[in-house]
Amino acid sequence: MLGSLARWLRILGFDTFYDNRIEDGEIARRCAAEDRLALTQDRRLVQRRLLRERSLLVQSIGLEEQLKETLEFLGRYVQAEQVLSRCLICTSPIRAMTKPEVRQRVPPYVFRTQQHFKYCSVCNRVYWGGTHRRRILRKLEKWGLL
Ligand SMILES: [Zn+2]
Repeated sequence: MLGSLARWLRILGFDTFYDNRIEDGEIARRCAAEDRLALTQDRRLVQRRLLRERSLLVQSIGLEEQLKETLEFLGRYVQAEQVLSRCLICTSPIRAMTKPEVRQRVPPYVFRTQQHFKYCSVCNRVYWGGTHRRRILRKLEKWGLL
């Protein structure tokens, strides 16, 4: 239910695990084992023993409000330099890659037109796109988060 929130937390650079197919017991076990906080809209889930000290029952409906509620709960704020610092698929930190390094990994048009690239060594995925980043930063400004 919180897929958009999870995606945006990743965009903002928070280490965020999301899988809407795993069951409650597994979520609780994983949060405890990996020292994670569970974000959920499921009242029963937050009552589990393993999650009592490590969960947030998200009350807001829309994405913008959910994001604000979560950041406030965490006592964290958005840092521009952390935006797009993690892989959007697996949440691992991504690193900058030079143009020669990406030559064989991106389509020729992308190679010709883009200057900055980042790489996830876990998924073997290359990221690019300054316009995407600017759009995200504009949205964060509009939401008053930056
Ligand atoms: Zn990845």
